[in-house]
Amino acid sequence: MSTAGHAELFAPPVADAKARTNLIGLDRAELALELKQIGEPAFRARQLWHWIYHRGLTDFAAMTTLSKDFRARLAERYVIARPSAVVDRQSIDGTRKWLLRFADGEEAETVHIPEEDRGALCVSSQVGCTLTCRFCHTGTQRLVRNLSASEILGQVMLARDALGEWPSPPDGRLISNIVLMGMGEPLYNYDNVAKALHIVMDGEGISISKRRITLSTAGVAPMIRRCGQELNVNLAISLHATNDELRDRLVPINKKYPIAELMDACRNYPGLSNARRITFEYVMLKGVNDSPADARALIKLIAGIPAKVNLIPFNAWPGAPFECASEAAISAFSDIVFNAGYASPVRTPRGRDIMAACGQLKSDSVRKPKSERDAAI
Ligand code: SAH
Repeated sequence: MSTAGHAELFAPPVADAKARTNLIGLDRAELALELKQIGEPAFRARQLWHWIYHRGLTDFAAMTTLSKDFRARLAERYVIARPSAVVDRQSIDGTRKWLLRFADGEEAETVHIPEEDRGALCVSSQVGCTLTCRFCHTGTQRLVRNLSASEILGQVMLARDALGEWPSPPDGRLISNIVLMGMGEPLYNYDNVAKALHIVMDGEGISISKRRITLSTAGVAPMIRRCGQELNVNLAISLHATNDELRDRLVPINKKYPIAELMDACRNYPGLSNARRITFEYVMLKGVNDSPADARALIKLIAGIPAKVNLIPFNAWPGAPFECASEAAISAFSDIVFNAGYASPVRTPRGRDIMAACGQLKSDSVRKPKSERDAAI
């Protein structure tokens, strides 16, 4: 279901040159099964889990609660491997971006966006993307494949290595939040994304709660329901248009799952409240979707849904068929949405000096509308 219609996607290799299996990405049951196969009792899986996901070790030899013999046997058959970072750049604003290379040579990006007392890691779910949203640079890339659970999780592991965030600190974390807003459509790779997120949320490991994880989708409506039931992470919808005619053009997946069906899935997302809102992302394109009438249509569309609206100044790339809306248009749009009772932050582009495209990563919420102030009390 999650990869339906994407026969070109292929599975990446899971073992290293010596045919050793990477343990990153195995869930608890699979880890226990591996241990059983080498004659170890299943409870050892818990000890191993602690070393891998709480302490962040990559070397079996340092796992001092395990017998020497067991450690040696593990090292013969398994590795604890991250993807390799082929580019590691830091912006003057602190944003840090890695270009990661996976075992088959394919590459994807991971970005860390630090804030004063927290930080978000923007994670990719696919190499490339099949959706061909007209304004998105990733859609122009030729090759597409799903990332495995191991590769999705590997992005978090590598970022935590780089930021020195092992063992998992209880609070004050540099990576306190995870956003699935990197390359790819996470709901077209649902199984692997879900598996990786379950491991990220596990309280005896990385332990980032579902309230601090946001999955962004272009609108795979049937999978939104499943995501709500099984993961119940925060949801962000890349809306960008308020009528089907325009959205069909900007976000072609709309032809399959039109706005009414998408909004229905949003309304029924489990656990919505003023404290847990859906984020509607709206990229501001000059003369296309940036008028006051568009803003009013947006308010009408999301009426009754606990929501906030992230306005994203379009980040142009060479050959892009759009221009960014003017500052005045963005601010007028934001005011209309704000005055209707929705937070409407304009995202400040981060890491401009190190990134070619994708200024979509950072939100800058200053004002809070009345409904949200009430909810906070
Ligand atoms: N496929 C998912 C997640 C990846 S895109 C989704 O569509 O939500 C993450 C966000 O960046 C989306 O809201 C996307 O519409 C936006 N985006 C992509 N290209 C952009 C650009 N050039 N300028 C501004 N935002 C962009």
